[in-house]
Amino acid sequence: MKRVSIFGATGSIGQNTVNLIGRNRDEYQVVALTGSQNISQLIMDAKMLQAEIAVTSDPSRLTELRDGLVGSGIDVAAGDAALIDAAARPADWIMSAIIGAAGLRPGLEALKHGTVLALANKESLVTAGPLLMSEAERFGSTILPVDSEHSAVFQALVGEDLTTVERVIITASGGAFRDHPLSALDNVTVEEASKHPNWDMGQRITIDSASMFNKAMELIETKEFFGVRPDQIETIIHPESLIHALVGFKDGALMAHVGPHDMRHAIGFALNWPFRKDLPVQRLDLAKIGQLNFLEPDLARYPALMIAHKVMEAGGLTGAVFNAAKERALDAFIAGACSFTDMARIVDRVVDLVLAREGLQNASITLDNINEVDAMARALTSEEIAKLES
Ligand code: NAD
Ligand code: MG
Repeated sequence: MKRVSIFGATGSIGQNTVNLIGRNRDEYQVVALTGSQNISQLIMDAKMLQAEIAVTSDPSRLTELRDGLVGSGIDVAAGDAALIDAAARPADWIMSAIIGAAGLRPGLEALKHGTVLALANKESLVTAGPLLMSEAERFGSTILPVDSEHSAVFQALVGEDLTTVERVIITASGGAFRDHPLSALDNVTVEEASKHPNWDMGQRITIDSASMFNKAMELIETKEFFGVRPDQIETIIHPESLIHALVGFKDGALMAHVGPHDMRHAIGFALNWPFRKDLPVQRLDLAKIGQLNFLEPDLARYPALMIAHKVMEAGGLTGAVFNAAKERALDAFIAGACSFTDMARIVDRVVDLVLAREGLQNASITLDNINEVDAMARALTSEEIAKLES
C-alpha cells in the first residue's frame, strides 16, 4: 500500500486530494492529514481515511481536534513544529497544499526523507526554488508539479530532451477582470475579485488570478522548476482555460496539454505517476467547445507579469521578497486597507526598495536568509500600506 500524507488537507487542493484517495481507499495508507481552522473537516477526513495523525497548525484548536478524535486511535498534534514532525513521518507520497509561505518548511522536511513531494504550494518554489530543488537532489526525493500549468509542461516534456526546449508558454484565463474597464479597476471589490470565470479555488488564489499575481508566481515557478531562462517563458491569455500550457521545441513544434478545469487531473497525475490511471474527470467534447481563443496580455491591466520578469531576472532572494510583499498586499486588499490596483504598485515598490539594498539578491538561499528578507519585505509592505491610509 502506498503511504500518503496531505498537508493542507482541508483546503481546495487538499479536498480534491482527499476525494481521489477516498475513492481508492484500499490502495493507500494515510499517514498525516493537516489543516488549520476547519477542524470539523479535518476530523471527518481523518476518520474517513483512518489517518495515523491529524495536525492543526493552530495550537488554540488542539483541544477541539483531540475531542473530535477521541477513541479513534488517531494521534493529534498542533503547531508549526508538529507540522514539521508530521512531514518527517515516512511516506511514499506527500501532497504539499498548504497556502502561502507556511508551506515551505514542511515541504523541505518532507524532501529529507526520500519521498515524492506533489507540490501545489507554489510559494515554496517562488521563495526558495533553488533550495528546494537542491534538497530534493541531495536526499533522492522527487518533486512533481501540481499547479495545472506546470503539470501540463511536465507532461509535455515526458520523453523529450530538455536542451531542445525553446520556450514555455503558460496560459492565463485573464481572471475576473479580463473585460472590466481598465479605468474602473481601482474600485473593484473583494467580492468581485473572488469570482473566477473558470476554476473553483480558494479565495486568495482566486484574487491572485484576477490581479495575475497568481500567473506571476507561476512564471517564477516555471523558471525554478524547469530551469528555463526568463526570456524563454511567455504568458498568453486563453479565456477558455482548456490548454494549460504549451512547450515550444527548436524544430518549431508546439506541444499543448488540453484538459478540463478540474484540479483532480493534475493531482491524480502526480498521485499515479509514473503511471496513468483512470481519473474521475470530465472528457472534453472538442466539437461542442468549438473554438479556443488566444490574446496577448495587456501589461497595463496586468502589471504583475512585468514584476515577475523583474524578479526572475534579479534571481536570488528576490522571489522571497516578492512573495512576502504579495501576501501582505493581498491581506491589505482583503481587509479593505488598499485598492485592487494598489497591490501591484506596492509590491513593485517593495521589490525595487529591496533590490536597491546591495547584496540582498545575491545572498545565499538559506531558510535563515529567506526568513530575514520575508520579514523585511512584510515590514516594508506594511509601511507602504500605512502611507496610503495617512
Ligand atoms: P486553501 O486556502 O483552499 O487551503 C489552504 C490549506 O492550507 C488549508 O488546509 C488550510 O487549513 C491550510 N493553512 C492555511 N494557513 C496555514 C498555516 N499558516 N499553516 C498551516 N496550514 C495552513 O488553498 P488552495 O486553493 O487549496 O491552495 C493551496 C496551494 O495550492 C496554494 O499554494 C495555491 O497557490 C496552490 N494551488 C491551488 C490551486 C487551486 O485550484 N486551488 C491550483 C494550483 C495551485
Ligand atoms: Mg495554476
